[in-house]
Amino acid sequence: MQPTDIILKKRRGMALSTEEIAAFVRGATDGSFADYQLSALLMAICLNGMDDRETMDLTEAMARSGQMADLSSIPGPKADKHSTGGVGDTTTLITAPLVAACGVKVAKMSGRGLGFTGGTLDKLESIPGLSIDRTVNQFVNQVRRIGLAVVGQSHDLAPADKLLYELRDVTATVDSLPLITSSILSKKFAAGCDVVALDVKTGSGALMNTVEKSVELAEMMVRVARLTGRRYFALVTDMDQPLGMYVGNALEVEEAIRALRGEIGGALLTVSLALGAQMLLGAGMAKSREEAAGQLTEALRSGAGLRKLAEMIEAQGGDPRVVHDLNLLPHAPERIPLIAEKSGYIAEMRTADIGYAALALGAGRERKEEEPDLSVGLIMRKRLGEWVERGEEICTLHAGVRSDIPHASELMRGVITLSENPPERKPLIYAIVGDEVEWVNQYA
Ligand code: URA
Ligand code: CA
Repeated sequence: MQPTDIILKKRRGMALSTEEIAAFVRGATDGSFADYQLSALLMAICLNGMDDRETMDLTEAMARSGQMADLSSIPGPKADKHSTGGVGDTTTLITAPLVAACGVKVAKMSGRGLGFTGGTLDKLESIPGLSIDRTVNQFVNQVRRIGLAVVGQSHDLAPADKLLYELRDVTATVDSLPLITSSILSKKFAAGCDVVALDVKTGSGALMNTVEKSVELAEMMVRVARLTGRRYFALVTDMDQPLGMYVGNALEVEEAIRALRGEIGGALLTVSLALGAQMLLGAGMAKSREEAAGQLTEALRSGAGLRKLAEMIEAQGGDPRVVHDLNLLPHAPERIPLIAEKSGYIAEMRTADIGYAALALGAGRERKEEEPDLSVGLIMRKRLGEWVERGEEICTLHAGVRSDIPHASELMRGVITLSENPPERKPLIYAIVGDEVEWVNQYA
């Protein structure tokens, strides 16, 4: 099968066969297709699209391009969650232990921070001693033994996605529904779970910034996963402001622990519980969303979720006392309050810039080889729609020796738009996508 024949067919807008798609993914993985041929095909897909069957074939071929975690030896459904990425978005560290405490096995392979968004692995590594480096065997054994593992993606997880993503990044072909769908789902398929709750973010700090585009992506991911017999759901949730109030690695771990201790409610907990409810429903542990919510609330109230997190930390070599003693987390040496220069209602937040401010403080990587300072970040003091009085603290920077404080402060000063009138309230959870799109329009 010639690369040019496949490119030409897609250039003419025709659907590729299963074999042609397999040849394309094989060509990417073994290097037999040149980068310019792969790039041309990516562009043709970007312009002419793919139907669900083609997208499913692409997803499965990419998932099978490397090692697949086989969780089938563990009885019962295995559940996972995935967020398309946001700021102050620590749902994994809350949802995963709560769902595991309700008796559903949770097996998750996570990623590093990307751009202005945080990554669960970096957050977990702020826990003293904890290791996210696990072989697939260790991962499977930990899920079997304690019902919960959150580890780094195995080196060989969907290598075709890594190669194609790098090309998409430099050929302006990231923004394509079938390419995003196959990229995200191939990694989920390879990580082995049959039940997955996807959190598709929408807004100023999200991959897709309109609700319509986010719902379209959510629908495509759920449809394609269901074509393969997997039980996927998606929530479409707001990222017009950080989900939690803490942004940074150790800071977000602190917020998650506080949430599991019952000390913090708000948007972060609401979305964490909603994702958990879909995982329990998908796993058949609950018959209705209400029943699932009741089970999760009980796991929260009884402390079973917090204990499950401690168990996971210990299983991965970390110090489980951290769930009771937050002083064990790294703390930034300097606290700098940012003060409102005038009064008004918070009408808008440039959420991506809040992520960039955390990066300027050193919380992430501006280059691939940089190691983040896990202690730094910021704590937001206000939410959208709140009144701010001149002189009030809007946020606190937690800075370290490598922090670019002037740059972070400058970004943060431009983040918030104040207005005289309260802005229109917008939902936190727009829709839940399963068999169909259910508009829930739930507020925080
Ligand atoms: N995240 C991914 O993993 N892949 C995409 O294509 C976009 C977001
Ligand atoms: Ca830097």
